[in-house]
Amino acid sequence: MTEASSPQGFDYLIVGAGFAGAVLAERLASVGQRVLIVDKRPHIGGNAYDRYDDAGVLIHPYGPHIFHTNSKAVFDYLSQFTQWRPYQHRVLASVDGQLVPMPINLDTVNQLYGLSLNASQLEDYFASVAEPVEQVRTSEDVVVSKVGRDLYNKFFRGYTRKQWGLDPSELDASVTARVPTRTSRDNRYFQDTYQAMPLHGYTRMFEAMLNHPNISVMLNTDYRAIETFIPWRHMIYTGPIDAYFGHRYGRLPYRSLEFEHRTLPQAQFQAVGTVNFPNDYAYTRVSEFKHITGQQHDQTSVVYEYPTAEGDPYYPVPRPENAELYKRYAADAEQLTNVTFVGRLATYRYYNMDQVVAQALATFQRLQEAQAPAGVELEASL
Ligand SMILES: Cc1cc2nc3c(=O)[nH]c(=O)nc-3n(C[C@H](O)[C@H](O)[C@H](O)COP(=O)(O)OP(=O)(O)OC[C@H]3O[C@@H](n4cnc5c(N)ncnc54)[C@H](O)[C@@H]3O)c2cc1C
Repeated sequence: MTEASSPQGFDYLIVGAGFAGAVLAERLASVGQRVLIVDKRPHIGGNAYDRYDDAGVLIHPYGPHIFHTNSKAVFDYLSQFTQWRPYQHRVLASVDGQLVPMPINLDTVNQLYGLSLNASQLEDYFASVAEPVEQVRTSEDVVVSKVGRDLYNKFFRGYTRKQWGLDPSELDASVTARVPTRTSRDNRYFQDTYQAMPLHGYTRMFEAMLNHPNISVMLNTDYRAIETFIPWRHMIYTGPIDAYFGHRYGRLPYRSLEFEHRTLPQAQFQAVGTVNFPNDYAYTRVSEFKHITGQQHDQTSVVYEYPTAEGDPYYPVPRPENAELYKRYAADAEQLTNVTFVGRLATYRYYNMDQVVAQALATFQRLQEAQAPAGVELEASL
């Protein structure tokens, strides 16, 4: 990284140093483009930023970030900047005074109801309690049509209401579809081919990505403070799209979180990386970082997540009316030939990290193609 002081200006001004911005900075720098990446926060990494707390425990200030993907291309790309530590996330849900595996699986149902079903009996059980739904549209439909109302009430209704401030019947099917139920005993939270954590953390990985003579990094800087001051040719914008346009059609709703971090004088606090509380307390879940990072330490740090309506925009809210509003902003974004919108907030999509990396890599490819003289075939970027 170098100081942001190129007198000729930059080919690219990248707004936001999260996954979307950092991947594009790295790719563009690798083909000789001069890049200035700015973030209004005091650090790189966006929401995936991690750091050591006062006790020396590696924490994720913006909540637990577990890397998982089915994309070999994404995994191989990031592997240039980090080694990995294999990690498969496990989650327990506190329901009816018990801690049971989440997503719902064979053990969950047997433990919860005191049964001893096998996988095919569980399938029959689900079929017997499932409610017929003509067209699955909402997050409620997804769950009740598969596992019935009791499991829906115990695991999804309260959690979703807390997390989103909305009843599952008011949210797109995609939200609860992210946590599919299983009839097997597989108690991993994710089933992706690649599940691993950056060996020395996300921030080290981002540092390696941005460590290029063509990349300058400016932190603590809102791009608006410098966009007319520093010359640049093309902007990559990864902040909230409605903020870019001054909220001209109204605010896109985002769900936010308050994080309560605690360090405890004990080596371990809970049995797994995350415990969900669908029905009790104002927080949704408690995560213990050492499970996730593999760090050995005689103290431990945990984070409690309290969903809020106000605060930093973390989650685009998947509802049809929000998608409609987003489309109006997206249409305006299309008209801008010198600004490209990438990432979770700029494209208003509830994307995981790997999906943002894939989107950024595809964007790089498009930018390259747009620049290439006609008839010139580009080498694949990966
Ligand atoms: C609590 C939580 C847990 C998550 N857990 C997981 C997980 O386990 N696994 C997973 O794959 N994904 C997870 N995600 C999703 C993951 O965080 C995102 O997919 C990813 O970080 C998005 O990257 P991005 O670059 O699009 O956005 P961001 O990381 O949000 O980066 C955008 C950056 O733009 C900056 N910015 C905005 N406006 C301006 C401005 N005006 N000027 C300058 N800078 C600006 C912001 O400060 C920010 O740093 C989680 C998200 C949250 C909120």
